[in-house]
Amino acid sequence: MSEASESNITSLLVEARLALTAGVKVDYAESLELALDCPRCEESDRTVRFTAERGRCRSAGHTYAGRLTGKLVEEAPLGEKTHTSATGEVRLEREERVQYSLEIAEALPALPTWGRIRFTLSCPACGTSLDSASQNNVKRPREILCDCGRLLALETREQPTIREQSA
Ligand SMILES: [Zn+2]
Ligand SMILES: [Zn+2]
Repeated sequence: MSEASESNITSLLVEARLALTAGVKVDYAESLELALDCPRCEESDRTVRFTAERGRCRSAGHTYAGRLTGKLVEEAPLGEKTHTSATGEVRLEREERVQYSLEIAEALPALPTWGRIRFTLSCPACGTSLDSASQNNVKRPREILCDCGRLLALETREQPTIREQSA
């Protein structure tokens, strides 16, 4: 953490990467969840959901000073990378990186260790949409499968990563 005592704002970058099979479209939520110490609840590890307007402590329902300031999706080709899932070998087409920036209106004593990025995946095989999420503290690698069995996305590492944004 920086020692910038002139500011009581913490700016964070929260990032996840998904390897996607051909034809899958991803719609990332306009919100982000982090586990934070809540001064109003006087509890640690409260799940706080941030939107562009505000933060909200989900367990207690009160507002939490902070908001999302940006969302960036970037795409990178994956070449001929294949993955063997339960349903056979599939070719991963591309990787998407989503990065949220947010401001929290206090100086955090430590970076959050848990976050969740929600998204919807559209299946090119059967046309349905699947709600899913990347969150910390689940087993990786993790396959995200449609109900029809098609592998939609693959997470290869612990994520999202949470870091402080340098000014
Ligand atoms: Zn609270
Ligand atoms: Zn499907």
